[in-house]
Amino acid sequence: MKFRINTSELKCEYCGGELTEDNIYVRVINGKEHYFCCSHCADKYEQRIKM
Ligand SMILES: [Zn+2]
Repeated sequence: MKFRINTSELKCEYCGGELTEDNIYVRVINGKEHYFCCSHCADKYEQRIKM
């Protein structure tokens, strides 16, 4: 599945790493899309906001 988004302005919301079309992980948290470099960052971000 390809995401049609402009990745040039996107950074991993957890670690701040740059995202590219080939290296992006999208997860919907609380009804909002969040962008990460990998599932690990998404997991940690999700854990952090749930605490
Ligand atoms: Zn990351």
